[in-house]
This record gives sequence, C-alpha cells and structure tokens, in this order.
Amino acid sequence: MDCVFCKIASGEIPSKKAYEDEKICAFYDLDPQAPVHILIIPKEHISSIKEITPENSGIVAHIFEVAVKLAKENHLDNGFRIVNNCGEDGGQTVQHLHIHLLGGRSMKWPPG
Ligand code: 5GP
Ligand code: ZN
Repeated sequence: MDCVFCKIASGEIPSKKAYEDEKICAFYDLDPQAPVHILIIPKEHISSIKEITPENSGIVAHIFEVAVKLAKENHLDNGFRIVNNCGEDGGQTVQHLHIHLLGGRSMKWPPG
C-alpha cells in the first residue's frame, strides 16, 4: 500500500521520532503549525477515525495517553491542543489515522 505514514512507521521514510512502541509512533510534523507539532499514529494502517470500532478503540486511548506524556515532556504546561482531521471537510490530507499534538503558542477558537 502506498501510504506515507505506514512508510514512516516502518522507517522506510525517515522522520524525527518523538516516541515509539510496538503499537504506535509519534514524529514531528514536516510543516509545523506551532512551536511543538507532533503527529501520533497507530502502526497498523487505519485510514481514519471512522474505522474505529469496539474491537480497535483501545488504540485511541493509548494515543491520547502518549499525547499527554509528550505534552509534559515538551513542557506544554500552559495547555495544548489535540486535533483529528477526518475526511475532506475535516481537512484530512493523509489517509492514515493520526492526531496532531500542537502547543507552545496560544490557539484560536474556532479553527479555520
Ligand atoms: P492532516 O491534514 O491529514 O490532518 O495532516 C497530515 C499532516 O502530515 C500535515 O500536517 C503534514 O504536514 C504532515 N505530513 C505529510 N507528509 C509528511 C511526511 O512525510 N513527514 C512528516 N513528518 N509529516 C508529514
Ligand atoms: Zn498507512
């Protein structure tokens, strides 16, 4: 499958890793939108949050736990934002489930 995030997970495409275990990995976004911008993905190819089921939903909890750990490690003590873009209207450009951890600046609401 021609999926850029599967290739990052396998190491075929290089990335600056922030975290890795047997189920997920985290790496710095190529085009950061905040001083800290980390993507966290399951190593298994799941195309979007719409593919989450009662059988695989544990991976989402695990991703959030690691996001909070990375926020602490990056000293985002004043707050941070976790984003999931889903589908065309949601602005999803890579069809492999990922969450964005953004921090280090004040965020606007609502997002554009
Ligand atoms: P989306 O728009 O799908 O929510 O987010 C995809 C994100 O992946 C974008 O922020 C984009 O900058 C990032 N991205 C796309 N290709 C690569 C890549 O090859 N390496 C890294 N580190 N980030 C990427
Ligand atoms: Zn993939």
